[in-house]
Amino acid sequence: MAASFDVCIRGAGIVGRTLALLLARERLQVALIAAAKPPQTAPDVRAYALSPAVRAVLESVRGWPADALAATPVLAMQVHGDQQGAVHFSAAQQGVPALGWIVDVPALERQLEQACHYQSGITPVTVPAPDPISAPLTVICEGRASGTRAALGVDYESVHYTQQAIATRAECEKPHGQIARQWFTADGDILAFLPLGGPQGKEVAVIWSVQQARLSDSLAEDDAAFAERLQAISGNALGALRLNAPRAHWPLLLARAVRWVGAWPDQSGSFALAGDAAHAMHPLAGQGVNFGLGDAAELARVIAARQAWRSLSDLKLLRRYERARQAQWLRFAAATDGLQRLFTRPEPGVAWLRNQAMQWFDRITPIKSRAARAAMGLD
Ligand SMILES: Cc1cc2nc3c(=O)[nH]c(=O)nc-3n(C[C@H](O)[C@H](O)[C@H](O)COP(=O)(O)OP(=O)(O)OC[C@H]3O[C@@H](n4cnc5c(N)ncnc54)[C@H](O)[C@@H]3O)c2cc1C
Repeated sequence: MAASFDVCIRGAGIVGRTLALLLARERLQVALIAAAKPPQTAPDVRAYALSPAVRAVLESVRGWPADALAATPVLAMQVHGDQQGAVHFSAAQQGVPALGWIVDVPALERQLEQACHYQSGITPVTVPAPDPISAPLTVICEGRASGTRAALGVDYESVHYTQQAIATRAECEKPHGQIARQWFTADGDILAFLPLGGPQGKEVAVIWSVQQARLSDSLAEDDAAFAERLQAISGNALGALRLNAPRAHWPLLLARAVRWVGAWPDQSGSFALAGDAAHAMHPLAGQGVNFGLGDAAELARVIAARQAWRSLSDLKLLRRYERARQAQWLRFAAATDGLQRLFTRPEPGVAWLRNQAMQWFDRITPIKSRAARAAMGLD
């Protein structure tokens, strides 16, 4: 016999778990379907820059890591162009305690897993599910390669960047000073150092978006040579570096599912897509998971605010979610994609122009503040 729930969430990543917690708080019965975890062969080096708006959502469901050292407040951000251009953001200038937090992903995942464990409205199910699950609404949070989205025949329009991201962690000679740093290079690469280990930390999460043609050489280099290269790109900003984790790499893409909501083919209910199952963007602005958690918050808000007579499968209701999130996604994706493209153009005139534009942008405080507030999710 089918087990009945109000909502079935497929995918227990950060977005799926957060959505489950938000909906269970609304007294809905949620089935949370998780894929069996593959055996961990290497340490997880991921760290995300999370915005104040996302922190508020996670705190509201006890999903924020309890260990203060797992979430380092960012007091300033420095973005360097490939010539003289630079943009500086500071928390003090924006009148906020932090621009965001660099959060250790394994710590965040553990905290969310624990929060779900203690929430009685959430029933965890590991695939293959022992019994069929029926629910008027299924939310697909299976990430970029979502099998359910493909089975539903929803196209995922994707453009692959000519870059891949290499992520690792490094110990630095000098303290990071709670500053997130990013360098655009003349080769079209983007290097980011994100501060870890709390205010006094001397460790950074490294994300290097490197041109595909140089990927295998960069991965084949020994740790010392790789660290020296990072040190050179960063202009020795944090002194000598030593890698303290293996390197992982990901392809980068700009992608959007053509529909984010719809009816289940047998008309037994409706579906909605959220997180990377609905969209993916370049990590240069550190917005991917922030955006996915924004989806979770908006979908939960639309559901909580629905008229009592509306069913959870009501497509009019779900389209409110789709409209709101797609409009915002288009703005963010256009901005990150535009920046990525601007910095991969090799022509000297374009290089001059983009660096000049960075200088202008840095001086025009109201525009800079608007951009900072949008990135913090405060607009
Ligand atoms: C290099 C890099 C750096 C990044 N840095 C940042 C950053 O600083 N800040 C930021 O906001 N974002 C960042 N992102 C983006 C971020 O990683 C993603 O946006 C985020 O992981 C999306 O979360 P999700 O829960 O939607 O999907 P996922 O994290 O992909 O989770 C999907 C889950 O669904 C499960 N699943 C899949 N199929 C099934 C199935 N059939 N049944 C059940 N379960 C299933 C998977 O096992 C997984 O647990 C970065 C991305 C990259 C590549």
